[in-house]
Amino acid sequence: MTTQSTWQGVLYPTVWRVIFLGLLTMTPYVETKGGPLSGDPIATDDVSVIVHPINHATFLLGWKDKAIYVDPVGGLSRFQGLPRPDLVLITDIHGDHLDAETLAGLVSNKSPIVAPPAVAEMLPSALRAQTTVLTNGQSTSVLGLSIDAIPMYNLTPERQKYHPRGRGNGYILTIGGKRFYISGDTEDIPEMLALKDVAVTFLCMNLPYTMDVSQAARAVRAFRPKIVYPYHCRGSDLQDFKRQVGTDLGIDVRLRDWY
Ligand code: ZN
Repeated sequence: MTTQSTWQGVLYPTVWRVIFLGLLTMTPYVETKGGPLSGDPIATDDVSVIVHPINHATFLLGWKDKAIYVDPVGGLSRFQGLPRPDLVLITDIHGDHLDAETLAGLVSNKSPIVAPPAVAEMLPSALRAQTTVLTNGQSTSVLGLSIDAIPMYNLTPERQKYHPRGRGNGYILTIGGKRFYISGDTEDIPEMLALKDVAVTFLCMNLPYTMDVSQAARAVRAFRPKIVYPYHCRGSDLQDFKRQVGTDLGIDVRLRDWY
């Protein structure tokens, strides 16, 4: 009897802990070809898009059975257990955005890649052959989704060496009628501030390469996306960003674990 009570005393709290943790970690997912994908669901006019942060500037959007990668870098082990890309968007030439070796291991020889000319020039010829090259302002349609290349560049004179105007691309990806804006490495350029009807923004912030949290918060308050994910934000005070965006405009700032 004593033995049984002790046993139950150990077992029951463990069972409840498992159930509690299970509920806590249960996140919505879409079924991709690689299996279920966890992350934040974003409602669209069609099925939801799942936002799955990976690291720094690298993330994955899951939609239906499609896996859309942005700037996949950092070695293949980072992508273990994740689906193969059906589409890859690359913003710029730096190592935190373009990693030809990781890309070659990750993509199948049919996965379309979308990139600016400076990136395409740095790809091995096999990958270049499956790349749609877009310059700022150009658009394409892949997997039935429209993709617009948006300028990304530094405005501050001493930062212009990092991202000169015209080299890299931000992107607007329209999925199920919702516009997803991926800023790339940029400051609060007029082209960003003029954006309309953005449902979700992935917005960079880190000095000296892009912008500080005040610049980023002012930008968000100007073009008013419904949801903002700060990303590419190493060393930034994201609570301060959230506070400066405020709640009066109904903008949902989503802080996630990117590092
Ligand atoms: Zn970067």
